[in-house]
Amino acid sequence: MRLLVVGGGVAGAATALAARRVGLDVTVLERRPALDPDEGSWITLAPNGLDVLDRLGVLDPARAVGWSARTNRLLASGGRVLGEVPLGTPLADGSVALTMKRSALSALLVDAAVAAGADLRLGASVESLEDGAGGPAVVLADGSRLTGDVVVGADGVWSRVRRAVDPRTPEPRYVGMVNFGGVTAGTGWNERLAPEAWQFVFGRRCFTGAFPLPNGRVVWFVNEARPQVTPQERAATSDEQWRAHLCDLAAADAGPAAELIAAGRLELAGDNTHDLARVPRWHGRASVLVGDAVHAPSPSSGQGAAMALEDAAVLVDLLRTRGLDGLPAYETARRHRVEGIVRAGARTTSAKMPGPVGRVVRDGILRGLAASGVMAREVLGTTAHRLEAHLLEPTRGAAVRCVRSDGPG
Ligand SMILES: Cc1cc2nc3c(=O)[nH]c(=O)nc-3n(C[C@H](O)[C@H](O)[C@H](O)COP(=O)(O)OP(=O)(O)OC[C@H]3O[C@@H](n4cnc5c(N)ncnc54)[C@H](O)[C@@H]3O)c2cc1C
Repeated sequence: MRLLVVGGGVAGAATALAARRVGLDVTVLERRPALDPDEGSWITLAPNGLDVLDRLGVLDPARAVGWSARTNRLLASGGRVLGEVPLGTPLADGSVALTMKRSALSALLVDAAVAAGADLRLGASVESLEDGAGGPAVVLADGSRLTGDVVVGADGVWSRVRRAVDPRTPEPRYVGMVNFGGVTAGTGWNERLAPEAWQFVFGRRCFTGAFPLPNGRVVWFVNEARPQVTPQERAATSDEQWRAHLCDLAAADAGPAAELIAAGRLELAGDNTHDLARVPRWHGRASVLVGDAVHAPSPSSGQGAAMALEDAAVLVDLLRTRGLDGLPAYETARRHRVEGIVRAGARTTSAKMPGPVGRVVRDGILRGLAASGVMAREVLGTTAHRLEAHLLEPTRGAAVRCVRSDGPG
């Protein structure tokens, strides 16, 4: 069986690596001309995601590019501690979660997939998908056409493959929040913040997070509730202007945010946050969606990359054991879990952005939820999820069929 994977982010790279580990042929088509392991946003990969990395044989390389994280500490605008929530149930070796660059994670997965025999094509932008009775094919921007047995759409929240699978598929929803992030060295805050803990401040005009790295730097982000940043505004605003704006937003709040922003480097500016709650069609006859292409949670969920990794492992295992009959089984296995996580992410996003009266009420509720253990139970419930032990075992499964037994999908 040959997989054509559209997209070389976390979902696509993990799908390619999983496929190679069970002996499927795979070509990854990534539109970017090069993969920079140091670009874009930071993420924290929860233990359910680390478990998949372990199964894919890349947990140690991930540890080499990530920093151990154990808890989220929640503070009100004035500095009062609202609660402390664990990031998940530890793996057998005691590790809980890793904070890392998202691009570093996808780069190490791509490297491992290529080392295992995956064919990686950079600068390969997929323009269209054909999924007829003759087998699936994709057409690239340069006009070339590639055929395979299954096309896996791992092309992110604005997925073309999703629109090809179902032209009436819903558009992503703007969640009303813009993301900014950066890194700061030399303020001394990395020693004043608790180690291995994200500190979140539910501020007056923004929500901020800060995470101290043992190398003296602090990773931070700012969420601002506002209309989307337009292309014109983006083009007209320099990093310095964004930082001045963010300092102003965070100035009235306790915690390190204003100082970190003032002294730091902006790495992510004006990122409009979208989610994708319910996609009616997850697959076509021989095409299927994974990761943000089919269920993008808001970043507040802290689960998008972990979900993408789980998708990859479940899909590949079903493809190699059931062939194309594995596509509906994949949807059945995954839909309920991921849709619940997208809904939870949307609730968390709303909690970040109330008005002045709502803030007082919200802080009280958060304190109660943290003190009663409700918050911890929700996180532990989500992150304790482990894939079935037999998934991706090298010898499992019958010969793969490439024809669906129930006709067109
Ligand atoms: C600010 C922020 C913070 C986050 N924090 C966390 C967190 O703490 N924990 C967590 O687990 N998740 C987090 N997430 C979510 C997580 O990053 C995503 O859910 C995950 O990376 C999705 O991976 P993906 O591969 O599905 O999509 P993407 O990362 O979007 O990758 C899609 C890839 O497809 C390529 N592509 C697109 N179109 C085409 C085409 N036509 N042809 C070829 N290639 C194409 C793109 O270039 C890209 O490389 C966060 C997200 C953001 C934005």
